[in-house]
Amino acid sequence: MSTTLERWEPVIGLEVHVQLGTATKMFCGCRNLFGAPPNALTCPVCLGLPGALPVPNRRAAELAIRFGLAVGGTIAEVTRFDRKQYFYPDLPKGYQISQDKGPIVTGGTVTTSFFGDGKTIRLIRAHLEEDAGKGQHEESGGSTLVDLNRCGIPLLEIVSAPDLRSAEDAWAYLNELRLTLRTLDISECDMEKGSLRCDVNVSIRPRGTTPFGDRVELKNLNSFRGVERAIRHEIERQAALLEAGGKVELETRLWDDEKGESRLMRKKESAPDYRYFPDPDLPPFAVGRAWVDRVAAEAPELPLKRLERYTSVYGLSDYDAKVLITDPSICRYFEETTALCNDPKNAANWITSELFGLMKGGVSIDDVKVRPTHIAELVALVKDGTLNVRSAREVLAKQYEDPRPAKEWVEKLGLVQVSDRDALVAIVKKGMEMNPKAVADLKAGKEKAAGAIVGYAMKETKGRGNPAILNEILAELLKTF
Ligand code: ADP
Ligand code: MG
Ligand code: ZN
Repeated sequence: MSTTLERWEPVIGLEVHVQLGTATKMFCGCRNLFGAPPNALTCPVCLGLPGALPVPNRRAAELAIRFGLAVGGTIAEVTRFDRKQYFYPDLPKGYQISQDKGPIVTGGTVTTSFFGDGKTIRLIRAHLEEDAGKGQHEESGGSTLVDLNRCGIPLLEIVSAPDLRSAEDAWAYLNELRLTLRTLDISECDMEKGSLRCDVNVSIRPRGTTPFGDRVELKNLNSFRGVERAIRHEIERQAALLEAGGKVELETRLWDDEKGESRLMRKKESAPDYRYFPDPDLPPFAVGRAWVDRVAAEAPELPLKRLERYTSVYGLSDYDAKVLITDPSICRYFEETTALCNDPKNAANWITSELFGLMKGGVSIDDVKVRPTHIAELVALVKDGTLNVRSAREVLAKQYEDPRPAKEWVEKLGLVQVSDRDALVAIVKKGMEMNPKAVADLKAGKEKAAGAIVGYAMKETKGRGNPAILNEILAELLKTF
């Protein structure tokens, strides 16, 4: 019996909504903030009071253009806003301002260079719209509270072509998209705070055939791993239906990540149900070439560009550079450290091998008490011979809990490196006397044998011997021994 994936080919397209990192909302001056007291960030416009007039947020359009340029899409010369009608308590106007016919960005591609196998996924469009509020069902009683703080927050909806062919593809695409959006400071893309949300369209077709099957839309996905699981489950569900002689219904289903299954939410609505029409309050909006050029000029560098810089200018390995680049806050931390110590290779090393080693389970680097100044200081102390690497590691571990300056820890722990030649010569001599076999091996050219003697000296100095000087002394003494 062949597996489902040998018989069926999945076809997947993603609709990703990201909240744009603007100061204010899409069509009013209310702050765009997460976590304020319910309904504190509202005004007549975002409450949908009759007669209030929307004014488009210039910055939101700029971030959308920045995205369009980054993915190589086409920026509309004239972009339009439409009303998308639906009734829902978290949308008091009774319609959402969105873009139907005149999206600000069309086309473009995303290539999975950092997270996947380098596949290129086409985008259909990316358009601006406003977010809706949030309903909160009270556990105790039969009431629902409505918080309209989120109402009117600018969203960019990014629609991929149905180019994805597996759950892993979808995972890689989402990560790559998030990396681009975060590196370019377009959106925080934090799924937990709802600043990135994603709907998944899945269909399957018999392997070797071309026409697409009927698709199902999955909603309520809370993590990228959840997206992957939901897609795998949906592929199996559709295959079982079709193989039992049934058919796939066009429908929207809700994913339940705990149960690992989905349930029907509604039969698929189609565009005519929304009765899109141009918003009479918002005339078409010309996007001048000069403006687009300005947006292009002020855009931060793309992840691939950064990779090139880190490897060529900083001399990092491709692997180390990618470890840094996949998290823009780590890049900021690394760049700050490098600016302070002027030693990108050691900065990268201390961050990725030592600091990461101390950071447990999902801690963000922004919350770590050890700051770039600390790392830069350690790099300098190792370089000027005050500390050996082992002691510097000990200091870092202490600083991780209590971030006082390295110098204080060095004093407290008595870690200053022993570089006093005379003292070290005596210790190395003793080590050689105690290890005649190692001395003989060294004389026979077996360099590894030095370990026994240097190891002894390190023990004698409580790990504080300067390894470079120890090795130097050993080489000298060998000539006369
Ligand atoms: P709608 O507006 O009804 O949601 P769109 O044409 O905007 O429809 O497509 C929404 C998403 O569905 C896109 O990401 C697209 O790639 C995807 N899609 C379209 N057809 C299929 C299909 N047969 N199988 C899987 N995904 C599909
Ligand atoms: Mg859609
Ligand atoms: Zn408002």
